[in-house]
Amino acid sequence: MPIHTPALVAETVGAPFTTRLVERRDLRDDDVAIEIAYAGICHSDIHQVREEWGTAIFPMVPGHEIAGVVSAVGAGVTDLQVGDRVGVGCMVDSCGECEFCKDGFEQHCSRGAVMTYNGRGYDDQPTLGGYSRTLVVSQRFACPIPDGIGLDEAAPLLCAGITSYSPLRRWGVGPGSKVAVVGMGGLGHMGVKLAVAMGAEVTVLSRTDAKAADSLALGAVEHLATGDPQALRPRRGHFDLVLNTVSADLDLEAYLALVKPRGVVANVGLPTEPYRVRPGRLIGTSKVIAGSNIGGIAETREMLAFCAEHGIGAQVETITAEQVDEAYEKVVRGDVRYRYVIDVSTIEA
Ligand code: NAP
Ligand code: ZN
Repeated sequence: MPIHTPALVAETVGAPFTTRLVERRDLRDDDVAIEIAYAGICHSDIHQVREEWGTAIFPMVPGHEIAGVVSAVGAGVTDLQVGDRVGVGCMVDSCGECEFCKDGFEQHCSRGAVMTYNGRGYDDQPTLGGYSRTLVVSQRFACPIPDGIGLDEAAPLLCAGITSYSPLRRWGVGPGSKVAVVGMGGLGHMGVKLAVAMGAEVTVLSRTDAKAADSLALGAVEHLATGDPQALRPRRGHFDLVLNTVSADLDLEAYLALVKPRGVVANVGLPTEPYRVRPGRLIGTSKVIAGSNIGGIAETREMLAFCAEHGIGAQVETITAEQVDEAYEKVVRGDVRYRYVIDVSTIEA
């Protein structure tokens, strides 16, 4: 019998959420059912509900920062058991056979990774995400959450955490690295925590000084307000890596100027308009503009272990199902400290 579970549903583009039952598939051999506890609100949820990235699949149940407890296992499940605490991020399937899957980059699967929502499974069924009480997913995409990390502060690690962790690792951040994080939101505050734990000297570049005390409390050495271009001048050519998490249009050249020769601007923020960069600003000092898409499953597990070792979780504000529409408006204004997580037990249908 398929499972029917209460969920928050956007029936059409930009519609407010309604609550109703949705269906989860029967457990396949390698599936687990997860009783979800918390689902984070990622800015990507908002981009997709509002079709800011192009046509989306409706009805939509967003949510790809999922933390909960295994409540049932399929006949062939060997890695997990009922009662295990697990998280699920942005992907729920991939081919597992292509060179990218084999190298641990399921997000770049040649067949196309199946996204947790606003996607279609290999069975052609639309996927529905974590703003719900129960999820059914292959054990390969359920990552154990180490003891010591609460499920509320763990949920955002499955997207905001891994999306910040992966480029920091790829570009070799370690003791003594000079890192700037642009945008102190969900991804940004995780970027600060993770880079600090890796031993970097971290600067936060935020629109105003409003979050300055928080930046320093998270371990940053300085917080600069980008609204005042003069404030950035002394930091030209200063950083090894600028991690750009901003969800809106940005003057990328201004940030490129802040990295050393051969330095890197790694973009994870996903606004819709193109960046404008004159080639000379890149070539003259042999700089790199990079992108980074979440992280693979092995790296997600590595990130969770790193967070447990360093006592890192997301800084969360817990909300109920009724508060989600309002929370979306606040996230768009950059008015969240620093991740909303939905207590999904409040979703009732
Ligand atoms: P968020 O919590 O809304 O944070 C974005 C931050 O950008 C805000 O807190 C704000 O920080 C800053 N910002 C600068 N200019 C802004 C403006 N005009 N309006 C609003 N905020 C502005 O979002 P998030 O969940 O961290 O996601 C950030 C971006 O990354 C989104 O575009 C999301 O889709 C994308 N994303 C990408 C991946 C990936 O795999 N690459 C994964 C997840 C999310 P200050 O107040 O400090 O200025
Ligand atoms: Zn996300």
